[in-house]
Amino acid sequence: MPLQQQTLLRDAMRRLNMTRDAFANRIGVARRALDTWLLPDESAESRAMPEIASRYVMEILERTPAGDEYTQRVQSPSILYEGRPHLLSVDQFTRDSVEALFRVADTMQPIARRQKITRVLEGAVLANLFFEASTRTRVSFGAAFCRLGGSVCDTTGFTFSSMAKGESIYDTSRVISGYADALVVRHPEKGSVAEFVRATNVPVINAGDGPGEHPSQALLDLYTIQREFSRVGKIVDGSHIAMVGDLKYGRTVHSLAKLLALYRGMKFTLISPASLEMPASILDQITRGDHVVEQTSDLHAGLKGADVVYATRIQKERFADESIEGYTPDFQINQALVESVCGPDTLIMHPLPRDGRPGANDLSTDLNHDPRLAIFRQTDNGIPVRMAIFAVLLGVEKQVQHSMRDAAWKAPAYIGPDDAVFHGVD
Ligand code: ASP
Repeated sequence: MPLQQQTLLRDAMRRLNMTRDAFANRIGVARRALDTWLLPDESAESRAMPEIASRYVMEILERTPAGDEYTQRVQSPSILYEGRPHLLSVDQFTRDSVEALFRVADTMQPIARRQKITRVLEGAVLANLFFEASTRTRVSFGAAFCRLGGSVCDTTGFTFSSMAKGESIYDTSRVISGYADALVVRHPEKGSVAEFVRATNVPVINAGDGPGEHPSQALLDLYTIQREFSRVGKIVDGSHIAMVGDLKYGRTVHSLAKLLALYRGMKFTLISPASLEMPASILDQITRGDHVVEQTSDLHAGLKGADVVYATRIQKERFADESIEGYTPDFQINQALVESVCGPDTLIMHPLPRDGRPGANDLSTDLNHDPRLAIFRQTDNGIPVRMAIFAVLLGVEKQVQHSMRDAAWKAPAYIGPDDAVFHGVD
């Protein structure tokens, strides 16, 4: 089966580091034509790219410096931790290996959109081990594994596990590895997921180790940024991200900041109350290279000129002696603030959950109908990205494309009521 045209085009734009306009210009077609080639097949406006155009794109890719080398890497993306297939930290990635993974995620899109199915992981079992609260990470890892044809076993909560009886991480990890072909682990202590790795040879994925890292979240965040930027004509290099809130304990911002630092000329504005600033070790990593890093507690000033506003929840469950209860109202990102300081294409993101309790002042729900709010497109992207992670760790990524069949049931054209505005725009 030939490469899906959307995958080829997205890959080409990533590899040439071009906006859609620049790429349309490069291949000599109107931007509107390129847009219709990028739409999912099931969209009414989607058009097949002429054979001659796809040959031309391939030719350009072949002539790109280091093209062969890149193509090889793209064909064999790898996620290795100490030489073995595990995902513990974004430190395991280079820019090329991230983009190779995103190419695999792009091939998963027809399955994530429920147009196609695959059974490449038929017979495989995932153990989802969550010793800390979770909704989307646990369910989306499970759903991603199921959509590849595998099955999922779960354990949720520390108190219902044998760890509450004093069992060590080593014993738990070794035991579960006898039952399952991959382990997704969330645990409240930083560094704990690496301990699971010591007891097993089956792939382990860090789904959040206390205030440490959340690499799959950062990958889906970056994937979202790239896709949204592609639509509005931007690239990641040289962009400005404002990270807001609990930057001390928020593991998603730790991982995302490091991942974005793989790009060039980034501007990071880190906006937090004084007691919740970004840890020095992360600052140290992102200040290397040609990035600009600014820290402030002034939300209004900090958001100015941002291409991405990444809000976070106050991680109260991790507080040692911090006295903050929630954000003060002047720390809340809401429609009025976005109208006054953000541009028409600014992306508003949040790893979720939003704390909706009185006094929390987390990202406001009054933005729910604002198309700049990307939080649900962000969660949707968790499926193709997590499918890609499993496919690469278990070595089936090359089989997916050839194994796809049409889904037998009919999925809705768009998932939530607020997504209508994005239907036919991809
Ligand atoms: N769901 C994310 C995490 O597990 C963010 C959060 O909990 O605030 O880190």
